[in-house]
Amino acid sequence: QVVTRFAPSPTGFLHIGGARTALFNWLYARGRGGKFLLRIEDTDRERSTPEATAAILQGMEWLGLDYDGDVISQFEGALRHAEVAHQLLSEGKAYKCFSTQEEIASFREQARTEGKSTLFRSPWRDADPASHPDAPYVIRIKAPQDSTTVIGDQVQGDVTIRNDQLDDMILLRSDGTPVYMLAVVVDDHDMGVTHVIRGDDHLNNAARQMMIYEAMGWEVPVWAHIPLIHGPDGKKLSKRHGALGAQEYQAMGYPAAGMRNYLARLGWSHGDDEFFTDAQAKEWFDLDGIGKSPARFDVKKLENLCGQHIAVGEDAALQQEIVAYLAAAELPALTDTQSGDLARAMYCLKDRARIFPELLEKAHFTLISRPIRPDEKAAKALASVSDGILKELTPQLQNASWSRNELEETLNSYAEANGVKFGKLAGPLRAALAGRAVTPSVFDMMLVLGRDETLARLSDVAN
Ligand code: GLU
Repeated sequence: QVVTRFAPSPTGFLHIGGARTALFNWLYARGRGGKFLLRIEDTDRERSTPEATAAILQGMEWLGLDYDGDVISQFEGALRHAEVAHQLLSEGKAYKCFSTQEEIASFREQARTEGKSTLFRSPWRDADPASHPDAPYVIRIKAPQDSTTVIGDQVQGDVTIRNDQLDDMILLRSDGTPVYMLAVVVDDHDMGVTHVIRGDDHLNNAARQMMIYEAMGWEVPVWAHIPLIHGPDGKKLSKRHGALGAQEYQAMGYPAAGMRNYLARLGWSHGDDEFFTDAQAKEWFDLDGIGKSPARFDVKKLENLCGQHIAVGEDAALQQEIVAYLAAAELPALTDTQSGDLARAMYCLKDRARIFPELLEKAHFTLISRPIRPDEKAAKALASVSDGILKELTPQLQNASWSRNELEETLNSYAEANGVKFGKLAGPLRAALAGRAVTPSVFDMMLVLGRDETLARLSDVAN
């Protein structure tokens, strides 16, 4: 069974790169009936905060990236990590090193003057335990010193590291706390992780982590180190490029489905497919489709995909998401009346709205109540028609059955009878019904508002 994990360090919000890493792991597991686990790498006590953990969880929830089982805290596994260090010690695969900081510094200094490698080689590696002093020590792994380590990476290909470039890294510090590198390997092994998909800034770590796998005789997971995300200018993604937290995108009104679609395409491709559903993404996602070069973040493309997802979104689901968006954006919630109005109008709001603020902008006509205050453009449109033309329309609408066909027919023949094009009538009608010049179609507004409200709004402005 495939087991993947997302292992964020809780030092800040869930940024776009992290969200993509989580998404890739989620897609890979979900498409294979596997498990997707969440591990919070909170061993750095100084930089880890509960607020950051909460923000990461909320970001994942917004994106719908559900994980199996409980959230795992890496810090809580410290005893288990230490146990593995001691096991390697007892098996002679690790050793106690009593070298002090000063000794290590002077080793390096000498190596530098002699033009040799400054990788620290501890004199304690092969020392007789009988000679051990009663002094603080760290536990170091015995790194392989000849040959090479090959990271068979699914994205980067075979990455070969010369073992003489590896030092005897510390597993356990002198205060008995495990180092991060050990914690990651032990956790991934204990959690049964089969595939590690993460940013390629961790590629160098993989070589060192493999030493621990090999020393313990554990199976090495499949590695997939994905290139980082760059800005549109090809430089490393930064705040300036829109490297915001996932939740900030929620607060700006991006639909989660569109965000997922876009993030999936950020560094992964499936033929020419740009728009796809979650089901398709789960079915299609694989490691082969991950590109070797950094993907560029492109807000236009994100918005475009978001628009397509809103257009095909299910009304009730969209409405729910809009409620969450308003809360995230700290905007006033919809009243019960407005909720009903929005639900009725939803069918005519989904086209050409890329984000929820645009959708709500189109919903303006139904969310407001009388008297409708026309904005400047709307006022102009109202002034452009001859007196009485909206007033005389009222009796005709009074008798029309409130169907799209009949409304169209009524308005068209009315326009014809008055010797104007329907387009001439549409502007003032928009102005009367919505107080704005840009709205959904006049017919949709009439259908959503209903006869009474439509006629009332018309009579408010008619003279
Ligand atoms: N905690 C690491 C990070 O946030 C990820 C480590 C890993 O995926 O192995 O970058």
